[in-house]
Amino acid sequence: MPGLDYPFDFVCAGCDKEITVERNDARDLTPNPDSVSAIEIVLEQWRWLQDDVDGRLFCPDCTDVEA
Ligand SMILES: [Zn+2]
Repeated sequence: MPGLDYPFDFVCAGCDKEITVERNDARDLTPNPDSVSAIEIVLEQWRWLQDDVDGRLFCPDCTDVEA
């Protein structure tokens, strides 16, 4: 079974805050860290939101401001 290439780095489009999703994070938060949806689930759990239109990613601080 092919695995995902951890770690994944993400940068907030609003404030340049950076996060890294490690395999351990995905293992804690998802049933299968090698599933393609695992990263989405981790980001969701951390309350990072992706813009449906242009795919930009926003951290919880920035999504609170825009909400
Ligand atoms: Zn931000």
